[in-house]
Amino acid sequence: MTLLEKIVALSKRRGFIFPGSEIYGGLGGTWDYGPLGVELKNNIKREFWKSMVYERADVVGVDAAILMNPKVWEASGHVEAFADPLVECKICHERLRADQIEEIQKHESTHKGKKPEWTEPRKFNLLVEARLGVVEDKKDKVYLRGEITQGVHVNFKNVLDSTRVQIPFGIAQIGKAFRNEITPGNFTFRSREFEQMELQFYVKPEKGESQKWYEYWKNERMKWYLSLGMDKKKLRFRQHEEGERAHYAKDAWDIEYDSPFGWKEFEGIHNRGDWDLSQHQKHSGVDMTYTDQESASKFLPYIIETSGGVDRAALFFLIDAYYEEKDRVVLKLHPRLAPFKVAVFPLLPNKPELVKKAREVYSLLSTDYGVQPVAWDDRGNIGKRYFAQDEIGTPYCVTVDFQTLDDDTVTIRDRDTMKQERFKIENLEKYFKKKFNH
Ligand code: ATP
Repeated sequence: MTLLEKIVALSKRRGFIFPGSEIYGGLGGTWDYGPLGVELKNNIKREFWKSMVYERADVVGVDAAILMNPKVWEASGHVEAFADPLVECKICHERLRADQIEEIQKHESTHKGKKPEWTEPRKFNLLVEARLGVVEDKKDKVYLRGEITQGVHVNFKNVLDSTRVQIPFGIAQIGKAFRNEITPGNFTFRSREFEQMELQFYVKPEKGESQKWYEYWKNERMKWYLSLGMDKKKLRFRQHEEGERAHYAKDAWDIEYDSPFGWKEFEGIHNRGDWDLSQHQKHSGVDMTYTDQESASKFLPYIIETSGGVDRAALFFLIDAYYEEKDRVVLKLHPRLAPFKVAVFPLLPNKPELVKKAREVYSLLSTDYGVQPVAWDDRGNIGKRYFAQDEIGTPYCVTVDFQTLDDDTVTIRDRDTMKQERFKIENLEKYFKKKFNH
């Protein structure tokens, strides 16, 4: 089994990620997050929001609608330019992206001996269409947003008018985006429905100023992934080449991860210039300029964007955390990302006094001490329970045993060192607070 196959199997078996609509044969490029996956993803999003919004005075958040007036997508250039080059195999009519050389080669090797001919590449627009309205033949075509970015820019004036932000400032957003990807694949890496976590940071339209903030945000975003435990050796920056940049970008760097399927982008940092605001100003007729408080000068700000994929981050955090050791598989997820923070076990499931005490510890931790969520396991022996928690990355296991009934102490077993120590129950709050806050 390859590493990716192992991750896919673990995700299914333990409830991280399931194929979308599985009982109906699935739907290509869609995935459902299970009980553990939703925790992992929520933790990533919470950490993002904490570092990008709550811990800064210069960023606010929004949550814009997925459905937007189709004129937005004309203004943003997506109707015209949001396209990939599509080619079709003349033997079996399978369609692939012309620029995904590995996929093309893989496909060619399936036609043993016969080298397929490909049609000329043609532009395939990635926007997903939907119909909105109540009267069947009068329904209007709308798009499911292809990026969450535009929901921020169309609200630029609303945010300025309703808050006290002043340039330089940013607007963060997390939400779903949809793309009619020609070849979804590599598990969740390329999906047709996915989530993005973004910052649009508005700065003065001067080269030096925008360059300064560009470097700043590149640095901040890399630091964020490192702070959540990603292996430095598996991360790198890559600058887009001249012909590779999206239609809006003046400069673009990707943060890439050394994945089982090669170095792959999971976050892009872009200098969008004044592309978005000037386009919306032109197409909507609304003045999008910013007035500088001191000099009273008016200008269209430049935008530095950081655009990460929540699903790609989740996948790479999983891959990065996966270790096979002598007697166990362990996900060494950062404690703040781990789906369960702690697991509580009664040593023996058939001793009511142990179960009762363990239940008390469970609710003390999860309700009074706010360590959430806490897993409960009373099946099998302790060794098996440790094994099961290691595999899903639970950093600590708390066991209630006979000594607990005498002196109110429990054992805490550490996922990474596998060491066990005894602690007074009343000290658990302090102990875990320290472990999870930093
Ligand atoms: P790619 O070149 O891989 O198609 P992109 O350059 O089009 O990606 P952006 O438009 O910069 O991606 O989107 C920002 C982020 O959104 C990406 O770094 C990625 O994490 C996420 N993303 C984009 N497309 C997908 C997808 N199809 N599935 C999952 N995540 C995606």
